[in-house]
Amino acid sequence: MSDSEFDLIQDFFAGLDQGASVRLGIGDDAAALSLPEGHLLHISTDTAVEGVHLLASLPPADVAYRSTMAAASDLAAMGATPEALLLALTLPEADRVWLEDFSRGLAEVSREIGAPLVGGDTTRGSLSLTVTVLGSTPADRYLTRSGAKVGDRLCVSGTLGDAAAGLAVLNGELAVDESAAAFLTTRYTRPSARLALGQALRDCATSCIDLSDGLLADAAHIASASGVGLEIDSALLPLSKALGSSADLDQRLDWALAGGDDYELLFTLPDNMPLPNGCTEMGRVVAGSGISCDRTPERIGYDHFRR
Ligand code: ADP
Ligand code: MG
Repeated sequence: MSDSEFDLIQDFFAGLDQGASVRLGIGDDAAALSLPEGHLLHISTDTAVEGVHLLASLPPADVAYRSTMAAASDLAAMGATPEALLLALTLPEADRVWLEDFSRGLAEVSREIGAPLVGGDTTRGSLSLTVTVLGSTPADRYLTRSGAKVGDRLCVSGTLGDAAAGLAVLNGELAVDESAAAFLTTRYTRPSARLALGQALRDCATSCIDLSDGLLADAAHIASASGVGLEIDSALLPLSKALGSSADLDQRLDWALAGGDDYELLFTLPDNMPLPNGCTEMGRVVAGSGISCDRTPERIGYDHFRR
């Protein structure tokens, strides 16, 4: 007897729906959640499609982990606390070995971000994965892209360009020593949504975005949403030691400016606010529009529809 859709849901997903905010989890026609009193619900969704996002060549646990962290990163950018996840999964066949590993990665990331899996959809077709995240903030305290003010400092968390270099390692385009390879590829396969930082920034930042498409591309969204210009000083970009050992400075800066998938937070901070731990000031908000930087990389950001 082959597996039904319901066998798969039961065996691989149904157990991941426990959490304080869950009134009804997997198994009914809809899930039901309770939010903390006086809070807003923040919702975001992200799709990964085979062929575009390296789904088939990565271990299934990494596919689940990175897709879910990428979605949770959007909540971090809003300053939201994750409350729950939904998963729409399309598979070419009911592959139990694949699903076993996938659900292990999903359980891990769900626990790490504190968001139970409360529902989804399971269908047959070319491999694709849509993760929807639900989060909460106090009703009048959340971050947007649109509040940057002239004179604010432009800041970023963590280090930049690691995931792009890690992807080059995975694709066999970059050879580095073993420990650098492990660090860089892990930055691609196992990103960390900066959830605690996002929540802390609610009290000080004037705007925020998470870095999924590359610094220059994502910074441009803050600039246009806020009606300001942003200046970036390439000499101040935070680069990891592993990235430093991997390529020449030009290539490193190109990855830091234009490489995607870092899932760090880019934010603007008024002059009188202290820089949070682990963050770097690398530019400022100016009158005008667009991004100015002392370097222009060859390729700026990823766009699904641009050729
Ligand atoms: P319906 O037909 O009413 O939309 P389904 O039969 O598709 O419901 O799903 C049954 C239950 O299993 C629902 O609670 C749904 O949210 C959940 N579910 C289905 N697929 C997944 C999945 N991949 N991950 C988590 N929950 C799932
Ligand atoms: Mg139904």
